[in-house]
Amino acid sequence: MVFKSNNFCIVLSSPSGAGKTSISKMLLKIDKTIALSISCTTRPKRKKEIHKKDYIFLTDNQFSELIKKNKFLESAVVFGFKYGTLKQSVLSFFKKKKDVLFDIDWQGFQQLKQSNMEVVGIFILPPSKKELIKRLKNRGRDTKNEMKKRMNLVQNEISHFPEYDYVVINEDINICVNQIKNIIDSERLNS
Ligand code: 5GP
Repeated sequence: MVFKSNNFCIVLSSPSGAGKTSISKMLLKIDKTIALSISCTTRPKRKKEIHKKDYIFLTDNQFSELIKKNKFLESAVVFGFKYGTLKQSVLSFFKKKKDVLFDIDWQGFQQLKQSNMEVVGIFILPPSKKELIKRLKNRGRDTKNEMKKRMNLVQNEISHFPEYDYVVINEDINICVNQIKNIIDSERLNS
């Protein structure tokens, strides 16, 4: 499959609790040329999440079936659950002349870079480990077990930041979003 397009993929990665979800929402509000890629996952739905809006929630069998049919642009196991991006949904955004924002981990970013799509990778870091732990606790959406699992993997996730094109520190969310918006605008002039 050929993925030639003037539009490009914007990957946002970060350890859990660095503010990626809020940043994505703010970016989508201020830049209507960006569309958010909705991933598939086998992770159970959280209380406030909506099927097909936050994620496409699938059973393990459904996910495996899509892998067999080669429907994913990238897929990975994160925190013990499967996550993946459908090729077709990205292509349909490109057809609508949208740049596509991905909230995916470093494994997905590496796979996207190996595809023949244009990709810009932005890694979001929290101001400190202490602040990250505070944010993880405050958002209160993870079970104790899930939070423990996430904290254990934080260091591993952070170790991948040098692989990205840009690193942004989320100390003040408005400044952080502005910086990301500037990166995206510069990349548009570059392509
Ligand atoms: P959560 O379960 O908290 O929504 O997401 C857990 C992690 O999975 C986050 O780091 C998120 O970026 C990553 N993730 C979400 N969707 C995808 C995807 O489609 N592919 C990959 N590789 N990672 C994903």
